[in-house]
Amino acid sequence: MGVVCIQMIIFTDLDGTLLNHHTYDYKAVLPILNRLKSLQIPVILNSSKTLTELDEWQNKLELNTPMIAENGGVMRISSNQEPFKKVQLGVSYDHIRSVLEQIRIEFDWQFEGFSDWSLADVMNHTQLHSNQALKAMEREASEPIIWLDSDENLSEFKARLAEHQLTLKQGGRFYHVMGHHDKATAMKVLLNQFYDVPSSQVVVALGDSENDRDMLDYSDYAIVIPNNPANIFDYPSYFKITQTAPEGWLEAIEKILALPTIASPSPLTCQSQR
Ligand SMILES: [Mg+2]
Repeated sequence: MGVVCIQMIIFTDLDGTLLNHHTYDYKAVLPILNRLKSLQIPVILNSSKTLTELDEWQNKLELNTPMIAENGGVMRISSNQEPFKKVQLGVSYDHIRSVLEQIRIEFDWQFEGFSDWSLADVMNHTQLHSNQALKAMEREASEPIIWLDSDENLSEFKARLAEHQLTLKQGGRFYHVMGHHDKATAMKVLLNQFYDVPSSQVVVALGDSENDRDMLDYSDYAIVIPNNPANIFDYPSYFKITQTAPEGWLEAIEKILALPTIASPSPLTCQSQR
C-alpha cells in the first residue's frame, strides 16, 4: 500500500456535522472541499453510515479518499494493487443481530432496529428516500436501534450487551449496537498504515454528537458543530461555531485554514521525502 505524505488531515462526521440534520443539505461546502483538495488536505468521512451510503456521499462531495463507516466498524482504504481494500474492525452484523434476538426473547424489552424494519419503516425513521434507505440497510458492523423501554432497563440492556462483547453508542438519531470500536479506532489504523505522520501533521476532527467524542479526543483540533438545541453535545470545541450544518462546517474549516500555523506551514518532513 502506498503511503501518502500529508501536512494536515480532516476527519468528519456527516449527519448534523457536514450534512444538515433535517434536510441532508450539503451544497454550501462544495467550494471549500475543492480548496482543500487543491491544498492536498484529505477529508475523511467518519460516520455511522454504511460503506454503501458513504460511496454515494463521496461521489456527491467529489472525494476520493479512504472512508470510515459504521462508527469505525468497517473502512475502505485505497491500495496500489486494487482500487479499494476493505477492512473490518468490528464484529459481524450477523453476530449483533443474533445477540439482540436472544436478549429480546429472554427479557422482552421493547426496542426496534433496522433488522426489524421494512424499507418503509427505515424511510420513516431516517427521512431518507428509498434508494438511500436501501443503502443504509446494507449493514456490516452495527445495528441502529430506538429504545422504547424504561431508562432502568436501558442500563440492564447495556450490561447484557457487554456480556456478549457488544457496546451501545448514542448517535444523533439512534443508539448503535456494535463491537468494541469507535470512530477513533479506525482513525488510528488509517493514520498508522496509510498516511505518513510527520511531527508537523495536524489532525482535525469535526462532529456534533456523543458518538463523535473519541474521534474528537484523538484530534489536535476538535470542532463541534451545533446541532440539536434540545440535546446539546457538551464538548469543548476549539472554535465556537455559530451555524448548523452545512454552513457551520464551512465556518469551521475557514477558521482552521486561517490559523497562522496552517496558513504558513513549516516544510513537510515525511519519511518518504527524507
Ligand atoms: Mg452526527
